[in-house]
Amino acid sequence: MLQNNKIKKVVIAGGGTAGWVAAAALAKKLGTLLEVTLVESDQIGTVGVGEATIPPMRIFHSLLGIDEQEFMRATEATFKLGISFKNWGQVGDQYFHPFGTTGQGSFLADFQHFYLHGKSRGIDAPFAEYCLEAQAAKLDKFATSKNGAINYAYHLDATRYAKYLRKFSESHGLQRIEGKIQQVQQHTSGDIKALVLESGQIVEGDLFIDCTGFLGLLIEKTLKVAYEDWTHWLPCDSAIPLQTASVVPAVPYVTCTAHQAGWQWHIPLQHRVGNGLVYCSEFQTDEDAKQTLLNNIQGEILTEPRVIKYQTGRRKAFWSKNCIALGLSSGFVEPLESTSIYLFMNGIVRLMRMFPFNGISQYIVDEYNNQSIEEIENVRDFIILHYHATDREDSEFWRYCKNMQIPDSLAHRLELFKHNANAFQGERELFRLESWTHVMFGQGIKPKSYHQIFSTMSDQELSTHLANIRRTIASAADKLPQHASFVGQYCRSEN
Ligand code: FAD
Repeated sequence: MLQNNKIKKVVIAGGGTAGWVAAAALAKKLGTLLEVTLVESDQIGTVGVGEATIPPMRIFHSLLGIDEQEFMRATEATFKLGISFKNWGQVGDQYFHPFGTTGQGSFLADFQHFYLHGKSRGIDAPFAEYCLEAQAAKLDKFATSKNGAINYAYHLDATRYAKYLRKFSESHGLQRIEGKIQQVQQHTSGDIKALVLESGQIVEGDLFIDCTGFLGLLIEKTLKVAYEDWTHWLPCDSAIPLQTASVVPAVPYVTCTAHQAGWQWHIPLQHRVGNGLVYCSEFQTDEDAKQTLLNNIQGEILTEPRVIKYQTGRRKAFWSKNCIALGLSSGFVEPLESTSIYLFMNGIVRLMRMFPFNGISQYIVDEYNNQSIEEIENVRDFIILHYHATDREDSEFWRYCKNMQIPDSLAHRLELFKHNANAFQGERELFRLESWTHVMFGQGIKPKSYHQIFSTMSDQELSTHLANIRRTIASAADKLPQHASFVGQYCRSEN
């Protein structure tokens, strides 16, 4: 470990989304204190997917001073208000997981208790009707607002996003080196000393960020940090992405449709649609999966379908010696809730906040690892919830998911909700209490009991109160412009 060595030179290995996100943040925020270099190889290329995001991306962009309209034009981006889930609890079911707040709770009881109380007295409006983002999505409407009334994220073109961040990083002094890394040199301590490129060029550094994707060239191949496998909880291990031309105006949400052995994504950009099938190779062949995808898309096919293989799980340590793994080299939960980009954006911010300018100590390494592990494990539980809390028994895959053992942390949450309708959001947890409730209700969980604080309200009071929330939301959603026309005037791409 480089205990007392000052850290001046940071080398990022890999120029996929993770590499360029790390480069942009370091160059812009610490570029005056550090020398930042990125090595990437056009020969190897990037995974080229990862097009749906979640709201914290906006905070990351504002930290870097990225202009929203410019970024959206450059990446053919559209807005995302949440995810529409089809066929998850049961074939034919549909529910929406929105980004915004839902209803209005009280100090003693969150809104789902209020909602359940209403239901018990015959007020049967769906949970989503208490959320502006869900209602706007239902009407295909959207507008940004200065007061932040609408919570949103983006759908973007991953390749264009990497290019955009490259330009941004280079304008802030980042040095980019094109070349294939052939060898990694180490100090006798085991710390990484330099990357040796195919051309013979040697790129030395004090701190290395491994963004080489599933390969994990530094963290795995060099430092031999093991991988914790989560396949028994998240069994999908294959994906086929496919781009098609848009045939209808872009909607402000992702659609995730469950199939026989996995699920399909639909991500609408300005000029095209990102589609893909995620599946479990134990229950579906690649050929069959390709056919399932081709049978369920619309519009002219723009790319060749290709199979991506992956293993869900996480690196046992995200930071080892003088190397930090970011992006796919650090682990992969799976893309269902669009969390990967968020995880490495947060990872690089975490690193910058703890940056070891005067040498790496084990305390910093441990703290970074503890925080990162807690964060990804919470995300993991949220994703498992979608697969496990289902009534589907129509295929071997769904029977497996329904009956599999789940992590204790998730089992606890599920029991808490089933028994008393209680949900919670931990301190370092990405998904809000409302995300948990929307998905738990959406997947068909019906709590046996709930808080009685609202039982003192008369039927009339309760019904008027809930109707007023729904009316206010419906009226606000109705006033918004159509999403596609808003995108057209706000950030139309010239591409
Ligand atoms: P990569 O894109 O694989 O980049 C690796 C880089 O390393 C490349 O530049 C390559 O050239 C370089 N490299 C490798 N070896 C060498 C070498 N020897 N020498 C030099 N350079 C080298 N995330 C989301 O947030 N939202 C989503 O909707 C989403 N959907 C996904 C769908 C699928 C099917 C998959 C598999 C992932 C998805 N993700 C999503 C995750 C997201 O795609 C990745 O987290 C993101 O693209 C970052 O990848 P990366 O930069 O870690 O790796």
